[in-house]
Amino acid sequence: MPMPKRAVVIGAGFGGLALAIRLQAGGCQTTLLEKRDKPGGRAYVYEDDGFTFDAGPTVITDPSALEELFTLAGRRMSDYVELLPVDPFYRLGWEDGTRFDYVNDQQSLERQIHALQPDDVEGYRRFLAYSRAVFKEGYLKLGAVPFLSFRDMLAAAPQLARLQAWRSVYGMVSRFIKDEHLRQAFSFHSLLVGGNPFATSSIYTLIHALEREWGVWFPRGGTGALIRAMVRLFQDLGGELKLNADVARIEVEANRACAVTLQDGERIELDMLASNADVVHTYRQLLGHHPRGVAHGRKLAGKRSSMSLFVLYFGLRTRHEDLRHHTVCFGQRYRGLIDEIFNGDKLADDFSLYLHNPCVTDASLAPSGCSSLYVLAPVPHLGNADIDWDVEGPRYRERIFDYLEKHYIPGLRKDLVTSRFMTPFDFRDTLNAHHGSAFSLEPVLTQSAWFRPHNRDSTLANLYLVGAGTHPGAGVPGVVASAKATAGLMLQEAGQ
Ligand SMILES: Cc1cc2nc3c(=O)[nH]c(=O)nc-3n(C[C@H](O)[C@H](O)[C@H](O)COP(=O)(O)OP(=O)(O)OC[C@H]3O[C@@H](n4cnc5c(N)ncnc54)[C@H](O)[C@@H]3O)c2cc1C
Repeated sequence: MPMPKRAVVIGAGFGGLALAIRLQAGGCQTTLLEKRDKPGGRAYVYEDDGFTFDAGPTVITDPSALEELFTLAGRRMSDYVELLPVDPFYRLGWEDGTRFDYVNDQQSLERQIHALQPDDVEGYRRFLAYSRAVFKEGYLKLGAVPFLSFRDMLAAAPQLARLQAWRSVYGMVSRFIKDEHLRQAFSFHSLLVGGNPFATSSIYTLIHALEREWGVWFPRGGTGALIRAMVRLFQDLGGELKLNADVARIEVEANRACAVTLQDGERIELDMLASNADVVHTYRQLLGHHPRGVAHGRKLAGKRSSMSLFVLYFGLRTRHEDLRHHTVCFGQRYRGLIDEIFNGDKLADDFSLYLHNPCVTDASLAPSGCSSLYVLAPVPHLGNADIDWDVEGPRYRERIFDYLEKHYIPGLRKDLVTSRFMTPFDFRDTLNAHHGSAFSLEPVLTQSAWFRPHNRDSTLANLYLVGAGTHPGAGVPGVVASAKATAGLMLQEAGQ
């Protein structure tokens, strides 16, 4: 019988974990190396004064892709974690007092659309049909297919052309919908995966159909509970997770990765290697001693990075049943603000926010009668805006608290028990993200599919990538799909 292959995955984000599960279930002895003290990556968990804060993803979509990880291993996801439905999916709020509950009920949606602009009811129906067509082509057919050769790209080109993928998300929404509130309501989604609605391909409108198809979910116990479930599944299958294992270097012999060395000097030999770490970090730092790392690292560093985020976590001694689980708080400007976030060299005076209030779905995330919340503001990455976040962070926190007190949570400061924040510096220094980007390379058409770093390196034969920086891209469904694409290639190499 052939010896099982030894696989190593660097980084225990959603993508790294999903890949490690697939490899271990496929018969490779897999070791997952994570530099931090807990798994999850962007989905890390902070616990302060009895409050639990999911650091990153909170909108869980496409539960079937998660379920698949358990079923392929012969397990049931429900034995590991429970997913709770979220309704409405989001409440959208504007400063002029307009509110829109984005729900999965066609009648309720049409009633609300009619109240804003009667003509847009028909426009919305046509938009939904378009979004469903893109979802079928872009997600169901191509989401988990590795684009290794330009031929793969050419094969997809007719469909992309038919769906007018060269248009932007906002441009496409505007072809169907007239009202500006509604244009924002149906175009902001690409921001959730780091895409500028005015520059990202209209293929990202598929997120709308994906949410309508499978719903929006939240794990009981928070996103951290889903990460713990995936870790338990991986370990139940015999996989090894090493925490506080900061990889310093990938060793190469005859164009193959042969080992990794950790910061503490430990050396781990391997037959196949996948990196879930930032793609620029992988090539520039971990392979910085090898010509492939130098050349490819330089090339990737020159690509457009997605924006960064300022995330403010806070615990209140009160409950806020009036706030929904997810609220998008649109500011006065949309296009102008987004342009400054993606292209500007300083922090804008205004902001648009996303507010997370999970205790309305699961009260266990805070002490009795209290609530754990977070609010995030998209901000420019450090390559565009040289902001000293050690100075700006505390100021920005106060500005955001002022805004929330005025528009959404009166008396916030009076009820404040604890708070902490995360800035572009943390994305850069803790997560090794190039320019402190929150979502890796910006998902524009010229950095998508074959144009995105491939799931397998083209020079080092047994080096693979998984996660936000490779195909198909950021977001939990994206990185879980990348794990499927990458695992297919690795298991093929392993002959398993
Ligand atoms: C605040 C926030 C909110 C978000 N909200 C949503 C949402 O609601 N829904 C959604 O679908 N998506 C959301 N996203 C996007 C989504 O979270 C990410 O795209 C996804 O989680 C990234 O997963 P990944 O597999 O690329 O790995 P990451 O989460 O980036 O993990 C990479 C891991 O590699 C580790 N690592 C790096 N360098 C090394 C090294 N040298 N050695 C060892 N380990 C290393 C890091 O510590 C990290 O744990 C959000 C992102 C953020 C930041």
